[in-house]
Amino acid sequence: MHSPAQRPRVTLFSLGGTISMEGAAGSGVVPKLDANDLLVGIPHLAAVAQVAGETVSKAPSVELGFADIAALADRIRAAVAGGAAGVVVTQGTDTLEETAYLLDLLLDLAEPVVVTGAMRDPTKPGAEGPANLAAAIRVAASPAARDLGVVAVMNDEVHAARYVAKRHTHKTSAFGSESAGPLGWVVEDRVRIAFRPAERSPTIAWKGAPPRVVLLPIVFGGDLQSLHDLTRGPLGGMVVEAVGGGHAPSAMAGALGDLAAKIPVVLATRVGAGETLTKTYGYGGGEIDLLGRGLIGAGVLDARKARLLLSLLLGAGASREEIAETFARASA
Ligand code: ASP
Repeated sequence: MHSPAQRPRVTLFSLGGTISMEGAAGSGVVPKLDANDLLVGIPHLAAVAQVAGETVSKAPSVELGFADIAALADRIRAAVAGGAAGVVVTQGTDTLEETAYLLDLLLDLAEPVVVTGAMRDPTKPGAEGPANLAAAIRVAASPAARDLGVVAVMNDEVHAARYVAKRHTHKTSAFGSESAGPLGWVVEDRVRIAFRPAERSPTIAWKGAPPRVVLLPIVFGGDLQSLHDLTRGPLGGMVVEAVGGGHAPSAMAGALGDLAAKIPVVLATRVGAGETLTKTYGYGGGEIDLLGRGLIGAGVLDARKARLLLSLLLGAGASREEIAETFARASA
């Protein structure tokens, strides 16, 4: 056991979400608790780390935006520069996978940065917020979790930001990394990192609000109108959330190619696991056709994460070649 002065310092930034919610029966819960309220639920963690709480916001996570997370990245850098051995961010689970990946792209720290939340609000029996926060603090304080990039800790599992996604609307086991599996887990008082990502995500400089990047979902029986509707108004880029390994109706292929000649168009998949293909299907609208028309494969990045990477790259003024090259590295 460390003496109090030897305990690693961890900074907790709370943004809101279900983990922080309270409310009366019938009217629904809303974010109310601040960072120090959250720490009250885990007094035993004082023996693991000296945790300093900072309340950033009390919001449902769907209210968060790029500028909020860029500002949070600055605060995380400052906390680490000030001596924090690790950082925990609590927020709503609805967009947790996006915040985690945005921070992963914005930060280049060796210190663990851990995002967590809760599926059950504190008024529910079995609310797991304190357990998730305790596990997240253990990971943030652990030397074993250094150099992993940003991770999400939920349900005692450690997930890389690049892969993690919410896959269920209410189960406490909602989070998973379908394409890669979790990096590790927390058991008793131990943090076990079983696997390390082969490469860190690229780091992209924040240069202000990125241009608009839209998602085009490809659906059964879909038509060109949805593409035309989305391209009205100023547009910096598009991510096609294609079916299967990266496929769209042949009737859309020409228009997608025309668009890709003007702005970056990234080809992702709606499947939820696995990479976009590159050389399997030869029919019109298949991945070979679409990539040949200038679309950029998202690889293992799902459409939401591909949108974040493309947005940051566009915001940083990257050229089309730089965007394609970064996607090739980030999506491997
Ligand atoms: N609606 C909540 C939010 O994302 C869900 C949660 O936190 O689990 O803010």
